[in-house]
Amino acid sequence: MLDRAVAERIAAGEVVERPASVVKELVENSLDAQARSITVEIEGAGLRLIRVVDDGGGIPAADVPLAFARFATSKIVRLEDLEVVRTFGFRGEALPSIAATSHVTLTTRAPDAETATRAVVVAGVVTRVGPHGAPEGTTVEVTRLFFNTPARMKFLKSPTREQALIAETAQRAAMAHPEVTFRLTFDGREAGFWPRAAADLRVAELLAAGSRDDLILVEGPVPGGTLAGWAAQPERSRPNRSGQHLFVNLRPIHSVPLRRAVEQGYAQLVPVGRFPAFALLLDVDPASIDVNIHPRKLEVRFRDESRLFGALVRATRDALLGSPLIRQVGAFPVPGFPPSPGPLAPAGVAPLLPEEASPAAAGALGSSLILAAREAPGGYTPEARKLPPLRPVGQLLATYLVAEGPDSLVLIDQHAAHERVLYERLLAARRKGGVASQGLAVPLTVDLEPSHLELVAGHRDWLESLGFAVEPFGTRTVLLRAMPALVPHAQPDDLLRRAIGALAGDGEGEDPLERLTIATACHSAIRAGDRLTADAIGALIADLAATEDPYTCFHGRPTVIAVPRGMLERWFLRG
Ligand code: ADP
Ligand code: MG
Repeated sequence: MLDRAVAERIAAGEVVERPASVVKELVENSLDAQARSITVEIEGAGLRLIRVVDDGGGIPAADVPLAFARFATSKIVRLEDLEVVRTFGFRGEALPSIAATSHVTLTTRAPDAETATRAVVVAGVVTRVGPHGAPEGTTVEVTRLFFNTPARMKFLKSPTREQALIAETAQRAAMAHPEVTFRLTFDGREAGFWPRAAADLRVAELLAAGSRDDLILVEGPVPGGTLAGWAAQPERSRPNRSGQHLFVNLRPIHSVPLRRAVEQGYAQLVPVGRFPAFALLLDVDPASIDVNIHPRKLEVRFRDESRLFGALVRATRDALLGSPLIRQVGAFPVPGFPPSPGPLAPAGVAPLLPEEASPAAAGALGSSLILAAREAPGGYTPEARKLPPLRPVGQLLATYLVAEGPDSLVLIDQHAAHERVLYERLLAARRKGGVASQGLAVPLTVDLEPSHLELVAGHRDWLESLGFAVEPFGTRTVLLRAMPALVPHAQPDDLLRRAIGALAGDGEGEDPLERLTIATACHSAIRAGDRLTADAIGALIADLAATEDPYTCFHGRPTVIAVPRGMLERWFLRG
């Protein structure tokens, strides 16, 4: 029991405002008890049942009735302790407040106890305490919440809204405690399951739809401690502040100034009217903050808020500007580009990507940009798959061609584009009786492993149809006399080995001839890193435009990405 002097200094107020506040207090008690697994079961939006099950340290049998007494806590003893408190609880108020307005059954067992203890409390009165069979840990069941406080009941929002608030509470706790497994159910249905995980993965799960690549590590010193956490990429911004999470010593807090500080770090990167998402954790000396200023402990007072503000702006800014910000563009139509592809394509729109090319497989950037076009009016026609007119601009990073499209910036993956061009050329030539060959000035001997030698012997006709002229030459060697006339960007012997490897089963493609064709195109194509002249850039764009399916390479990756003017304007905050 806290003595009177201490109890009087503790911020009083209503802790149990709604079901979500009960969940918050119970989960925090479980965390304070060092639980490694916490299950929250909700029925009837929390009014029928809130059950929190943990595997933490439990309560010694003799202390169980005390836990329901006001100002009884195992977490502080003296007023000075408040200065250093790192537990969530310290007032001994939650259990009595909850019990005062509901029916509570608490079952608990400390690790060394022979049996568990169960207490039943109705409207604050402990009606029964006794031994009970249960595993280590604590289960608190709250039923008939607010049964004796109809006024409080009246202020509740819709069941859906109350449930959303409970989910938010659980998510916040999960975000700051990746070492704990959390489970949340609503009326028996699983609404969240977060197995213990690395901190970045847990945050990615809760903040960025599971994509770790969309998080930028933020770190830095702050007055009295350190800051660590993750800022989501600017393109993960939301129309509201629902993705903003701040924690002080793992405690979720509301702080308008600190939130503003982080938003200032994002200045210019997120359009006006959108809000960045982040999960930032301050770890500070408990003496530099006052946690005892808000009844629900949602606010803390900082000793040096203005310096903290500056530190937060700086840390966020440095992290964002220091990271290779990959622009992810949301769904939007690009003028001149066809409705696009992918698993999200609505019925009636033929996918341009093969089925298996999920956005993840296509690469986050490519997919989002290409997917963008899928809503374009008019649906799918063969014409719509043609590239719009493109004006070559240049080459970027020796990897991408840059072009101007109708009212848009267009980037082309030079390797993927060339692969597509060569592949269609090889197919067309094969259909017409064979790919033209180009004789080598000096025939080349190529050493092969025995199984590959056999493949050459068995598939000479196929190799020939693709323009390879090969003859057996000794027991381990073949003689390469001619190559496909593609101006290949590979050494002849290397290309032959790759082609035969494809016959043997390496690489993509259903049947061996298909694999052989793909491998020949792939390994003849210009690579990332090859510098191209202006003429070559123009020629490759023209060749790509002439293909039947210019938008993908046969690996299912996009060849072309378009950014409409509107998106550029958003990036530069124009108009
Ligand atoms: P506080 O958390 O502020 O101490 P509470 O009313 O929330 O006050 O809880 C009272 C006491 O009951 C705690 O100090 C703790 O000793 C004990 N307690 C409550 N819940 C748990 C739990 N899940 N596991 C172990 N002990 C608990
Ligand atoms: Mg507590």
